[in-house]
Amino acid sequence: MTWSADFLSRNRAERVLLAEWTTFRLGGPAELVHLDARDDLAEALAQPRRWLGRGANLLVGDAGVGEPVLRLGRAFAALERAVTRDGRAIVRAGAAVDLAVLIRTCTEAGLAGPEGLSGVPATVGGALRMNAGTSTCWLLDWVARVEVVLPGETAPRWLERSEMPAAYRSSGLPEGTVFLGCELELAHDDPEHLRARGASLKRAKAASQPLALPSAGCVFKNPARDLPAGKLIDELGLKGTSIGGARVSPVHANFIVNDRGATTAEVCQLIQLVRRRAWDARGVVLDMEVETWNCPAELKAHPRDLKGVAA
Ligand SMILES: Cc1cc2nc3c(=O)[nH]c(=O)nc-3n(C[C@H](O)[C@H](O)[C@H](O)COP(=O)(O)OP(=O)(O)OC[C@H]3O[C@@H](n4cnc5c(N)ncnc54)[C@H](O)[C@@H]3O)c2cc1C
Repeated sequence: MTWSADFLSRNRAERVLLAEWTTFRLGGPAELVHLDARDDLAEALAQPRRWLGRGANLLVGDAGVGEPVLRLGRAFAALERAVTRDGRAIVRAGAAVDLAVLIRTCTEAGLAGPEGLSGVPATVGGALRMNAGTSTCWLLDWVARVEVVLPGETAPRWLERSEMPAAYRSSGLPEGTVFLGCELELAHDDPEHLRARGASLKRAKAASQPLALPSAGCVFKNPARDLPAGKLIDELGLKGTSIGGARVSPVHANFIVNDRGATTAEVCQLIQLVRRRAWDARGVVLDMEVETWNCPAELKAHPRDLKGVAA
């Protein structure tokens, strides 16, 4: 991709293996652009591109991607307490801020809410895009406004939370929206209490998730509130099933782990096997929670149409 000389004097572009930028440790080559200057947003938006946060919810094809991959940098990394409104604190966070840093800062300041996401690896931008959450809360529960560039537009604008029809793992904004930051509206609480809550959530995750191996977290969305995908996959007897170096985690059945130098192709075959079995045995369609880049389109097809999958 050709960038102007001015653009390249303020932002860094490099060839990388996306495996080094994703928690799954999978993905082929791409041009990675660290977008440090806000003034260069327009040039970045003028061409086909993809956006990368911490790479914690991504499965990237072995052949990589052709479009530049943009990662928000310095100009989008501010984290500040703005004002207090009606007894609540307003915290402004850029999309490049690490979610763990946001949680720690709020906890130390005695601001409640974000500690409920302790242990979720993300940037603020990726967490807004995915409406990252747990069984009890979502990031968007505390968001008052988001700064975005909507598809087809070039200028950033602020949207009120009421303009976002957020849902499970969805911000409710159109595909292609770029998240630049947000304002959170938070109530006060005892920092010690918040610290204890965050630590307890992290312990629970460590006890129930395969954190020692590369993964992208839960592969599938829960098909229904009372039907967690992990429970269903466990009941199908698929825990521990492997293809090449990709394995359905014996610890948490909704995680696929890269435990012996897997390829993305192997992970995709395993995903298809699980989806096909869930459909054949229980008539359940498992939709992807993990975002896929340059992976077989079949991953999003109806499972009854999946071919070449062991029954
Ligand atoms: C061990 C583990 C545990 C996890 N536990 C949870 C959990 O409990 N709850 C949960 O919700 N998730 C969980 N996840 C998944 C992941 O943490 C979340 O989906 C998180 O929101 C991803 O953020 P990210 O910055 O890594 O986004 P990425 O993975 O980098 O990107 C995800 C998507 O967002 C897009 N994107 C990224 N930044 C922007 C931006 N600024 N503007 C527009 N689009 C953007 C990307 O293009 C991609 O489509 C877990 C993952 C792992 C590895």
